[in-house]
Amino acid sequence: MRAVVALNSGSSSIKFALFTLDEKDRPELSAGGKIEKIGIAPRLSIRTAKGETLHERDWEQGAALSHAELLEYLFFWAGEHLQGHQVIGIGHRVVHGGTEFAAPCLVDDAVLAELEALCPLAPLHQPHNLAAIRAVSALQPDLLQVACFDTAFHHDKPEIASRLALPRELHKRGIRRYGFHGLSYEYIVRKLTELDPALAQGRVIAAHLGNGASLCAMQAGKSIDTTMGFTALDGLMMGTRCGALDPGVVLHLQTQLGMSAAEVEDLLYKKSGLLGVSGISSDMRALSQARPPEADQAIALFARRAAREAGALITLLEGLDGIVFTAGIGENDADMRSRICRKLAWLGVEIDDSANSMNADVISSSQSRVKVRVIPTNEERMIALHTISTIRGKRDA
Ligand code: ADP
Repeated sequence: MRAVVALNSGSSSIKFALFTLDEKDRPELSAGGKIEKIGIAPRLSIRTAKGETLHERDWEQGAALSHAELLEYLFFWAGEHLQGHQVIGIGHRVVHGGTEFAAPCLVDDAVLAELEALCPLAPLHQPHNLAAIRAVSALQPDLLQVACFDTAFHHDKPEIASRLALPRELHKRGIRRYGFHGLSYEYIVRKLTELDPALAQGRVIAAHLGNGASLCAMQAGKSIDTTMGFTALDGLMMGTRCGALDPGVVLHLQTQLGMSAAEVEDLLYKKSGLLGVSGISSDMRALSQARPPEADQAIALFARRAAREAGALITLLEGLDGIVFTAGIGENDADMRSRICRKLAWLGVEIDDSANSMNADVISSSQSRVKVRVIPTNEERMIALHTISTIRGKRDA
């Protein structure tokens, strides 16, 4: 039997999933899991599709363990687990595909070099995504690797949505709005098409609210605009990222407060958002259990900013048929969904509190003019699907 591996390698975690393929090349989850707290005390947990624990390991003294070393451990575990299977390839989440990469592609040295040049546009993610590709090449040079881009879903949005109000010359040099979380949005469109085909054809705001957070305005399943732009800093307030910010603040930090570019980058990517405003944590669950008023204010600002950005996108959509919440906060935090939806009540959004508190599939009331759904995202499955079709494309070529 054949198999594929999906890898999502981030700064402090590596998420992965192993899929076996049936006779029609449809992927079925065999095992999935993550290594968390990389750089502190890494912890690995792997579960079956039914949620049963297959393997766990803690490296309490493992602060010095690199991503490559942890990937090697995982690689050998996966080799044992998939014994008797032929692994046809491994798919990677790659955050930035720039202007060139509009679809998943096989990775070779030339592709890797082009992706490397995009690291400054996604400093928190891209270097880790590419390091995973290199680590796998070192372990098994012949294994086909496929890069799946978070920007690709937004590639065909209207040209005007890719424009920043800057001189045209800069647009030509790639300084434009790309948009991210595309693998998640693509999965949401597939799932929505299965669950609610009429709504999938309508005007929908998808809200990917996790540590990173963005909204996407979709019409008939296509991105027409999104809150993230040139980098994954723009738009909503996030766990540690600031979201949309007066660019004058950046100038002031550098010219008046004497901060270096590296210090500003660290501030905007790693010390802002929920963490910066609360002064307590970047984690929404931790904040909702915390008492101090700063935690409340951070939560309130997150909701306000999400509703504000939703309002802007709804105007571009010229109305709204549905909202889909996804990712850690979107899937689990009934209070946050309710705060955001209450601010959109004037549009006819009405939540059913009991369905919302149960994280039900549909959380809007029967009178609501806008249907509100919760759909758990699955970026790893999307990576697997892209990996299979890219490898088939090569085989059939
Ligand atoms: P990532 O962007 O790292 O994939 P996730 O999608 O896992 O992030 O989302 C992480 C966020 O989801 C954290 O802020 C976490 O607190 C929040 N979250 C997860 N479960 C819950 C929950 N039950 N209630 C509130 N927030 C939650």
